[in-house]
Amino acid sequence: MTTPYDDTNIFAKIIRGEIPCHKVFEDADVLAFMDIMPRSPGHLLVIPKAPARNLLDIAPEQLAVLIRQTQRIAKAAVSALGADGLTLQQFSEAAGGQEVFHIHFHVLPRWNDVRMTPHPAPMGDKTVQAEQAAKIRAALG
Ligand code: AMP
Repeated sequence: MTTPYDDTNIFAKIIRGEIPCHKVFEDADVLAFMDIMPRSPGHLLVIPKAPARNLLDIAPEQLAVLIRQTQRIAKAAVSALGADGLTLQQFSEAAGGQEVFHIHFHVLPRWNDVRMTPHPAPMGDKTVQAEQAAKIRAALG
């Protein structure tokens, strides 16, 4: 059995508007925003608004909505930033590398022959991340 969801996690606070983020997309079900420590240019996170800890406890219906929006946002990010490809990551539980216990997909635009910055990456430049978020928002239409 997995640990119960704890709504004091940092992404729950972002959903509630208690801490800021560089928002890329929001609707009733999903929120996407720039990762504060990007491991590639344009690294963003897509999360459901409903509580779920990770892939091990999310309801299949909720996961279906999340992955559909993740694909849409990932395609917009690749197009907006002129990337050559994409890495999609999801970590479940500490043993799987998870640090924030509200399920999220990492969307990492990638360029040929450019390695991802190793974890933990330095804090992103806020101005650059705001510009990237604006480009991706524009590509989403
Ligand atoms: P993980 O739980 O290992 O899949 O990764 C959590 C991710 O959340 C890391 O890539 C962090 O850089 C990112 N992160 C942590 N706090 C924030 C925040 N306040 N805003 C945006 N991203 C964050």
